[in-house]
Amino acid sequence: MAKKDLRFNSLVVHGAGFKDQYNSANVPIYQTSTFAFEDADYGAKCFSGEVDGYIYTRLGNPTITALEKTVAALEGGYGSIATSSGMAAVTTIYMALLEKGAHIVSTDAVYGPSRGVMEEHFSRFGVESTYVDTSNIENIKNAIKPNTKVLFIETPSNPTMSITDLEKCSTIAKENGLIMVVDNTFSSPYLQNPIKYGADVVFHSMTKFLNGHADIVAGIIVAKEQNIYNKLKTMMINMGCNIDPHQSYLVLRGIKTLAIRIERAQENAMKIAEYLEKHPKIEWVKYPGLKSHPQYELAKKQMRGFGAMISFELKGGYEAGKILMNNVKVALLAVSLGGVETLIQHPASMTHSKMPRESRIKAGITDGLVRYSVGIEDVNDLIEDLEQALSKI
Ligand SMILES: *Cc1c(COP(=O)(O)O)cnc(C)c1O
Repeated sequence: MAKKDLRFNSLVVHGAGFKDQYNSANVPIYQTSTFAFEDADYGAKCFSGEVDGYIYTRLGNPTITALEKTVAALEGGYGSIATSSGMAAVTTIYMALLEKGAHIVSTDAVYGPSRGVMEEHFSRFGVESTYVDTSNIENIKNAIKPNTKVLFIETPSNPTMSITDLEKCSTIAKENGLIMVVDNTFSSPYLQNPIKYGADVVFHSMTKFLNGHADIVAGIIVAKEQNIYNKLKTMMINMGCNIDPHQSYLVLRGIKTLAIRIERAQENAMKIAEYLEKHPKIEWVKYPGLKSHPQYELAKKQMRGFGAMISFELKGGYEAGKILMNNVKVALLAVSLGGVETLIQHPASMTHSKMPRESRIKAGITDGLVRYSVGIEDVNDLIEDLEQALSKI
């Protein structure tokens, strides 16, 4: 059986088929910036593309290739391009797929900088953008203009945990000739494969679930087809936002436990969401696994599990949230997510603080919203920690 045909839980462990002359059990770190050619003819063939040889690490490196092949297989895409960060993936996508006069329709509650870089910087180069609540498909239809080129979806969205219907988005994208891009960071390929529902491009901040150990920053873009893959790859190379071999090695190691990490984290998350929902000091909880979540049925349909991210609002808004965050002892008060350790943060003053308050509230990111990324600790420790911190409010 070819490695790429393995089932998901085996593929994460074995990877998509790396092989060297020593049959190394693990992918080694090819810590080299350049590769010597056997002779001038071979060098010329590498450059012309006649042979698939390595030239220079910004263009490709065996450790990086092993990671790219593995993630492409996990997402079911033609190929993937690893980048130095999740934001490098976002800017590579924007640069490759948009141009002066083009328009993008995006989820309003996307990752803060994905919106910030578009509104502050791409706008300077004449790219237009519209942000809507994509969990309501009608909003997308109404936002499309003759110059719309890209539909950019984040589901579940950050940090509101709204779910967007991937299949319906893909229908709209096809009808209007748009390239559909999905930020799949919150789910990881273990829970959701947007390409299966018609997405053209999927990307991840590998800083989060894929690596899973809060020790590196990296990103990856997966393309469904070769032509878009080539465009993205060329752009990444020219912008020079490649990942490095050592980071690639760490992500490959992290991916080996992706399945069991997420299984444990989402089991914990379900229990914590149920606990919070019953707590008298909590106004509301948004977790796709709760029946009270407005898109619970849709989450069940397009995701294989409900994930490890929870958002909730305390009665008493930001002030109460501050007391909670200052008193938790097991969860770390930190941005980021998707690691083995539980993190808590306050989007209005942290990750989404650069967003104008009005747009932030409109996108559902209220002043008192708290985001909780559930780790793989003993769930009783996490609940007791929340209990003692909530009692201080
Ligand atoms: C973290 C994150 C990003 C950006 O990734 P970096 O690795 O921090 O550059 C993009 N999208 C989502 C949903 C994220 O959580």
